[in-house]
Amino acid sequence: MSGDLLHPIAAMKPKRETFTGNHALAIEEPLLFEIGRADISGVDVEEPEDFAPRLGGHERKAALDLPALSEPEAMRHYVRLSQKNYAIDMGIYPLGSCTMKHNPRLNEQMARLPGFADIHPLQPVSTVQGALELIHECGRYLITLTGMASVAMSPKAGAHGELCGMMAIKAALKARGEDRRVVLVPESAHGTNPATAALLGFKVVTVRAGPDGTVSAEAVREVANAHEGEVAAIMLTNPNTCGLFEPQICEIADVVHAAGGYFYCDGANLNAILAKVRPGDLGVDAMHINLHKTFSTPHGGGGPGAGPTVLSEALAPYAPLPLIASTEEGYRLVETEGAAEAEAPFGRMTAFHGQMGMFVRAFAWMLSHGADGMQKVAEDAVLNANYVRAGLADLMSLPFPDHPSMHEVLFDDDFLEGTGISTLDFAKAMIDEGFHPMTVYFPLVVSGAMLIEPTESESRASLDLFVAALRDLIFAARRGESERFENAPRFAPRRRLDETSAARKPVLRWERPEPEEQAEAAE
Ligand SMILES: *Cc1c(COP(=O)(O)O)cnc(C)c1O
Repeated sequence: MSGDLLHPIAAMKPKRETFTGNHALAIEEPLLFEIGRADISGVDVEEPEDFAPRLGGHERKAALDLPALSEPEAMRHYVRLSQKNYAIDMGIYPLGSCTMKHNPRLNEQMARLPGFADIHPLQPVSTVQGALELIHECGRYLITLTGMASVAMSPKAGAHGELCGMMAIKAALKARGEDRRVVLVPESAHGTNPATAALLGFKVVTVRAGPDGTVSAEAVREVANAHEGEVAAIMLTNPNTCGLFEPQICEIADVVHAAGGYFYCDGANLNAILAKVRPGDLGVDAMHINLHKTFSTPHGGGGPGAGPTVLSEALAPYAPLPLIASTEEGYRLVETEGAAEAEAPFGRMTAFHGQMGMFVRAFAWMLSHGADGMQKVAEDAVLNANYVRAGLADLMSLPFPDHPSMHEVLFDDDFLEGTGISTLDFAKAMIDEGFHPMTVYFPLVVSGAMLIEPTESESRASLDLFVAALRDLIFAARRGESERFENAPRFAPRRRLDETSAARKPVLRWERPEPEEQAEAAE
């Protein structure tokens, strides 16, 4: 059969179990460029009459060579691609440190109201009073929940919020006339913490955690003393990335303040303490809040998220523009330095005001839960993590068995010793069971870490199935059924990918194969 007559996938080697290469509803999907043909079009525009190009000879001579498809082909392509994604709407997404919770559909409905969805950031302020009120109210709730003095709403992700908080700290130090260069970061920190500090020209100094996985005030004091007069800030996560509440957090804040530095708290794990603990009461000076984690807005494929950053009394004057001021005549946007409400802003984080759709979703979520509901969120998130822990602790190994877990439970790979199976194999085998794996190999302080965060939105039934499936896998590992692990995932459309090369040497450009290659592939 000639290669021209075959659909590109059917023409590809090696031969598959089915003629098409499809496995029931798991459809093989070539690239648009591979399925597109130059001779087909979904649009029908008449040739213009008397058309005289005015490009002075620069008009394109050859065809554009875009992949052309009929409308149903284009539609099917994108729908099929969308179905290859695992999503929180398909099943449990126990990715530790990520708080992958359900985004209620009410949030989506609210975000799509034309008064929120269809506005433009340069519209006259008098025409967007409701939107400004929503941003202002959402910010006021965040200030109240965290016990802080002010909030910068514009940062567009957690990491962006870290940058915002650390820039406020830098501005405050500059106003004090001090050039402090050292930022203390515990070794269990999320990679964005040292990256943020380094980006701003700070020197990152590591603070060691104790054998129980928490940071002691004594350890912080030691490092602070070794860098006397140089400490700009500490960046600490609480609960920390091992899922443990830092019991000495207030003493740590005191030590850092006494050393002349500020306390940046990474607020990504706020879900565990929401409406239960106010970070402002713990001595925190700046903290980002991932609306796409704690407040249920979608993470999106890399964006848009939202990382509003709350600031203490000491840092509030340096909050970035724009700010929203509530006045008797309504809401006003403070866009320039020197206004009464903007004493000494360090600059701007974004061109405009932040992620409107995320603010609407987060605020809808806050209002539908209420104060008591948000407390229950934290309680249930912690309960769910400890339920998973209780269901697995007899078979898996806990690096820090003496502390209760907060909203996520951390296991190490001790329990796999002697099985020849690694954390990665175990995670891949979970894909065959229909689960997105937990976070693996993070935090780095634990060997072969597996960090499970179920969030409050999972029911007991869904946790029971998850726990039972993991138990079954562990028994299989112990029985030496290595084929369930080594070759996993066996049932996914793609199996073990070279993730390192994909990240380091991504192939971002499709090249049309040479005619000989095409002929060969069809043989
Ligand atoms: C998610 C996370 C971040 C970064 O947040 P992004 O919104 O992904 O930029 C920072 N620290 C911790 C502990 C996190 O879990």
